Amino acid sequence: MIRDDDSVGSVLARDAGIFMGFDAFDHDLHGGDLLALAPFVFGRGDARHSNGAELPGTLKWDYVQRYYFDHNATTPIAPEVYEALVSCLSQVYGNASSIHFFGQGAKRQLEAARRLVASLIHANPAEVVFTSGGTEADNIAVLGVVRATGHSSPHVITTAIEHPAVLGPCAQLGREGAAVTVLRVGASGVVNADDVRNALRPDTALVSIMHANNELGTVQPIADIARITREAGVPLHVDGVQALGKMPVDVEALGVDLYSMSGHKIYAPKGVGALYVRKGTRMAPISFGGHHERDRRPGTENVPCAGAFGAAAQLAAERLTEDANRQAVLRDRLENAILDRIPGTGINGARWSRVPNTSNIYFDGIDGEALVIALDLRGFAVSTGAACSSGALAPSHVLTAMGLSADRARASMRFSLGRGTTTEQVDALVEAIGASVNHLRRISAHA
Ligand code: PLP
Repeated sequence: MIRDDDSVGSVLARDAGIFMGFDAFDHDLHGGDLLALAPFVFGRGDARHSNGAELPGTLKWDYVQRYYFDHNATTPIAPEVYEALVSCLSQVYGNASSIHFFGQGAKRQLEAARRLVASLIHANPAEVVFTSGGTEADNIAVLGVVRATGHSSPHVITTAIEHPAVLGPCAQLGREGAAVTVLRVGASGVVNADDVRNALRPDTALVSIMHANNELGTVQPIADIARITREAGVPLHVDGVQALGKMPVDVEALGVDLYSMSGHKIYAPKGVGALYVRKGTRMAPISFGGHHERDRRPGTENVPCAGAFGAAAQLAAERLTEDANRQAVLRDRLENAILDRIPGTGINGARWSRVPNTSNIYFDGIDGEALVIALDLRGFAVSTGAACSSGALAPSHVLTAMGLSADRARASMRFSLGRGTTTEQVDALVEAIGASVNHLRRISAHA
């Protein structure tokens, strides 16, 4: 949304003549919308130097109000999490392995955080290992379990819609001699549990299937799959990074053996995550150099970030139902408005099995990257798929695995809502999409 305003709080002059800053009123760390609403300022005409000196001319600004619809890529830090992080950073600086007073304080903080993360997934705290994020949790799970078998050519089952954090270690196992079965999913974006049963072999060492897909939001039938893997005596790893905080997770009720989590998807900082490892699961270490985290993940623990993750987990548990219900209503409002008003659109993936915040929509005849840029210019942050694939020309591996043509996959957008998303933002996004799609279609008709 373009807004006229001259009450800019802080403006940094750049050589290129472009000015950025944020409005002092919206930069309130305790405000509900926090960073999701923090507008960056693009100055036109004359302005101020970074040292505050006025440049000649008027100080009239047009700036773009920024709205964030990319919560599956990452979330802003929640105010409560920020408080926990800062207090931990400033006060709890001991090494959690030290036996003195300072070390004990850090250890207490770490264990309190572990209890909070464990509680969010109904696990025993002793089964939660802190990691540097979802990617490391996935690597420890996939490589650790398979290598622990000691087989020279073990068998692994995964799916074509996994995040690269799982597909990468599976590919590495393949290079080391493992046979990897990659299950297809069909247009629903939901794995068929019977396909898992049919793919099992006597030498299967691990099944790794995500809980919620990052691009589609589709939720996989994990409890059904776990019944099958249990019966076969094969460990089941679930990448829960995109399910955590968006839907109830109970690792006992689901029957999973390993469950990956990431802090920055639930309003905690980047660079912290956790892996649930069911007691008795055999794991080989994948890195070496210490006995931290019950030998699962060596290295001095990041106590402040673990503390922040714990605070985020507590908040997620408290707000889960309210957040889910509110975001589902907003997601449906967004989808219905787009499908009603814009021809040549449709939803990718099953609507009947999704987390409440995610929508993936195709806009036929549109180049997704061009639409991301057009919407960014209008102030809306959206994504064409996994954040890490942004900028790459290859269509999303998830959408093509579902059978979408390369053109339709390239014409697809992911909208992921969060705590700061409001009805007004959704309505403004629909307007912006309508205008941008019309514009892009007109241009390509004339090309
Ligand atoms: N797994 C899934 C499904 C994800 O969406 C992501 C991040 O986008 C990851 C794993 C990696 O998590 P992290 O960014 O914490 O390494």
